[in-house]
Amino acid sequence: MSIIDDALNANRDYAKTHPKLPQRPTPKIVVVTCMDPRLSDLPAILGLTHADIDVIRTGGPAVTEDVIAELVVSNRVIGTMEIMILNHTGCGFTTFTDDGLSTRLAAETGDPSPAPMSFFAYRDPFQHTREQIKKVRSHPWIAKDVPVRGFVFDMETGLLGEVKA
Ligand SMILES: [Zn+2]
Repeated sequence: MSIIDDALNANRDYAKTHPKLPQRPTPKIVVVTCMDPRLSDLPAILGLTHADIDVIRTGGPAVTEDVIAELVVSNRVIGTMEIMILNHTGCGFTTFTDDGLSTRLAAETGDPSPAPMSFFAYRDPFQHTREQIKKVRSHPWIAKDVPVRGFVFDMETGLLGEVKA
């Protein structure tokens, strides 16, 4: 049995008590955060409900073109009113470089054809967050009156430190 098979079994139990959900989502804020599972309990970390938060997750997080598209939809179609970029200390994406990982995987697999792959590795979470804020803030389809704020979650203390652009 794989983890996914176990999850499918658990889902059948879950469905028995599945609550009635609203016809459409009504999140208030969109949070772009890392794929790191230690950031998964956003309602606890931020004091919001699951229903309040649109969550976009990428490594870092990195604001890619895809993420920008999702932010535009979240704001302009779904109706969120604020954008939070949530980075963190101890990120796995600071433990390698894009070039280094591409080289390693080309060697390990014997197939260099996907290289150079953009993994969006970075070094400093504060500097990285500053750059991601700029990418969002400068996009013409992100409305100027939508707040765009960035933070680094400290894994040791659980506190959010705001990153000024
Ligand atoms: Zn991370």
